[in-house]
Amino acid sequence: MASRKEINQYKRKIKEIAGRSTIIPGIHNYCDRWCERCAFVSRCTVGISEFEIEGPDLDMKNEAFWKHMSMVFQATYEMIAESAQEMGINLSESSIEYEQPVHHESTAEKTAKSYGLRLLKWLEKNEELFVQKTEVFSMTNEEQLVTFKDAIEVIQWYSLFISVKIHRATLTPYAFDDEETDRYDNNGSAKIAMIAISRSLEAFAFLYNHLHELEDDVLGFLADLSKVQRMMKRKFPDAMNFKRPGFDD
Ligand code: SF4
Repeated sequence: MASRKEINQYKRKIKEIAGRSTIIPGIHNYCDRWCERCAFVSRCTVGISEFEIEGPDLDMKNEAFWKHMSMVFQATYEMIAESAQEMGINLSESSIEYEQPVHHESTAEKTAKSYGLRLLKWLEKNEELFVQKTEVFSMTNEEQLVTFKDAIEVIQWYSLFISVKIHRATLTPYAFDDEETDRYDNNGSAKIAMIAISRSLEAFAFLYNHLHELEDDVLGFLADLSKVQRMMKRKFPDAMNFKRPGFDD
């Protein structure tokens, strides 16, 4: 259990970060969460928190990690309750009944999820081959070494991210939600999913030309991603016009 001092310190720090004049509100909602590579890290509350607030490494088996997460949840809940109170809403006395939205997993989401899980296993299974390839590139072609490593990192980073964002994009809104806001959010989530698909396709295109041993596997992944991309374009024809705060301003 986190101490009151820890919770208050965390809340103070988050409020201080959020109050900085350079912060772009909402930028973290439609990004790819790759903070290490993000050009806007110094203008994003989530990005700054990642680097300025110390916490244990992400390790599901580590008790300290869960203790930290519990403190973060507690502090976040308190900040939401405080904001609600400022608006005259007492969350503990709220009588609103929440209806669990029904989510029908679309074919795009199912395909993306199965693609992501298969890809993670494939990356693990072929780790040794990738190390060997890296060594060969490091002796023969520095530029290709960088592109190869980058391609592997890209497909890994977006492996499960794509299905998560499709899930959010296809969530049925709550009956009492504002329809326009929901459509806005759906399109934003669809756009970042589509960006992740395009980047993964580019990475696989490079791998297709440089991983002849695994050509068939790579083709399979390319086919899956292309299928998901087609479905998303059909379902969200306006998604690419969505303006992501910061990134598309
Ligand atoms: S906007 Fe950039 S810094 Fe902020 S959460 Fe997204 S990737 Fe990280």
